[in-house]
Amino acid sequence: MFPQRLIDGYTTFLHHRLQTERARYHDLAEQGQHPEIMVIGCGDSRVAPETIFDAGPGEMFVVRNIAAVVPPCEDEAHETFHGTSAAIEFGVNALEVKHIVVLGHASCGGVAAFANHAAPLTQRDFIGKWMSQIAPVMDRVGPEGADRADWIRRLEWGVVEYSMNNLMTFPAVRERVEAGSLTIHGAYFGVATGLLFMRNPQTGRFEPYQDVEDVA
Ligand SMILES: [Zn+2]
Repeated sequence: MFPQRLIDGYTTFLHHRLQTERARYHDLAEQGQHPEIMVIGCGDSRVAPETIFDAGPGEMFVVRNIAAVVPPCEDEAHETFHGTSAAIEFGVNALEVKHIVVLGHASCGGVAAFANHAAPLTQRDFIGKWMSQIAPVMDRVGPEGADRADWIRRLEWGVVEYSMNNLMTFPAVRERVEAGSLTIHGAYFGVATGLLFMRNPQTGRFEPYQDVEDVA
């Protein structure tokens, strides 16, 4: 049976949100979507970009995967399927988005699993193979110190930077960034606090948008 939660949610949407957004849906259907912002986020149920940024239909092109990782641009010689890469290509070439935001988050299960070498992260599993690409981040951040929470946070921030750097390996992305028509941003959502951190491109530090120091 179709989940009752979804039936209830859709019923609410039908009677409330659709009533105020009907014209917008109609226009978007007629004219197509033209979002200026692409968000690459984690599939984690707590960090839906549309919720965090209070976005309506047509405003953001979103791709979510495990841990918001952007793999490097690879040629077809590898004979693999690249869902995230295809979405980047579509967002940049077809939609011509002006911004790509890589949105990491606190308490990321993908990052924690890699940090803990937790099962089932083997090379034979899809998730193990996927997360193995952040090994260079682990190398750069270094071993766990006295403050585990701080170490995990630095790994999570490092994954955002890894993804930002890999975006630049896509020729279409690099071209547009260099031409000034596309900007890549890094952000990080503190699940427990609801705080949003933005990566300062000058310092490379993640700074809270709000004037608050703490994040869980
Ligand atoms: Zn996550």
